[in-house]
Amino acid sequence: MYDTIIIGGGPAGLTAGIYASRARLKTLLIDNYNINCQMITTDLIENFPGFPEGVRGTELLSKLKTQAEKFGLKTVSAEVISAECTPKQIKIKTDSETYTPLSLIVATGAVPRALDVPGEAELKGKGVSYCATCDAAFFRDKTVIAVGGGNTAIEEALFLTKFAKKIFVVHRRDKLRATKILQERAFKNSKIEFLWNSKVIGIGGTNKVENVTVETVRSPSPPKREKVNCDGIFVFVGYTPNTSFLKNIVKLDESGYIITDNEMKTGKDNIFACGDCRAKMLRQIITACGEGASAAFSAEKYLEKIKKTECETC
Ligand code: NAP
Repeated sequence: MYDTIIIGGGPAGLTAGIYASRARLKTLLIDNYNINCQMITTDLIENFPGFPEGVRGTELLSKLKTQAEKFGLKTVSAEVISAECTPKQIKIKTDSETYTPLSLIVATGAVPRALDVPGEAELKGKGVSYCATCDAAFFRDKTVIAVGGGNTAIEEALFLTKFAKKIFVVHRRDKLRATKILQERAFKNSKIEFLWNSKVIGIGGTNKVENVTVETVRSPSPPKREKVNCDGIFVFVGYTPNTSFLKNIVKLDESGYIITDNEMKTGKDNIFACGDCRAKMLRQIITACGEGASAAFSAEKYLEKIKKTECETC
């Protein structure tokens, strides 16, 4: 039986794996290693301490995994289907096996949110993308649209300038949410043009994206509608946490993020959460790693307590 199972193999889960394994907890990490892992879809990470030249997302992730496995972490590639938890027992069902660990660390991250406009689902993979690092090279010398005003949208728009000849950034306000250094770079880049106070209302094309309809928000009245001819659209309008399998098990906020205290405790003694699936202010690799360490430490303390109680009663 595993002392702890970690679900999610991003920076939070792997750091929890390093700490749990070094604490000599029998630990298994389950991940489906899909392309949605945000670190895999990040080209260059510039704000992780210790890498003045930046580090590729895939490289950092691979190093974290090697480091965790060096201390004994077991990993398995599987999809978690359901979780059942009582104070005495946890049951995790994957597509291939059922596990009953003594504790659970949830580090399932979040997946890109869709725009939910006509044409988006039909043209997904045919010019509609959620990852510039994966798909930008298909748009060499083409015109593309990036939607959103956060760090992801601006970082990815900048990455797209390496390939595309023109990038329209469509943002629903007249101010970006992205960090200032990214804003400065985007404003300086002659390939990027901003369509402020605008939203995408439809994506058109027969077998591939051919145009995107953009409409102004707030003013003027009535709104102005424009069809922008383009070859692709990259959607970066935030994330949805991978927590649906935990509904009715731990407390989630209104957006589905797991509510924990500062020690990564969920309120259920045997369940801990860390990383981007957690309700919090700052979603960064560095914060995910710190939380992974705290979650493993809290799990260790919990296991010490229940094992001590078992010894006293046996
Ligand atoms: P985010 O910060 O939530 O930003 C989402 C953006 O999309 C916002 O600008 C938002 O507009 C816009 N938006 C949301 N729903 C929309 C809709 N339905 N239609 C049109 N626009 C919509 O998400 P993110 O940029 O993906 O970042 C996620 C987290 O990862 C953040 O905490 C971020 O700081 C972090 N991150 C950090 C880095 C880095 O440090 N280098 C890189 C990537 C991500 P409003 O601004 O009007 O709300």
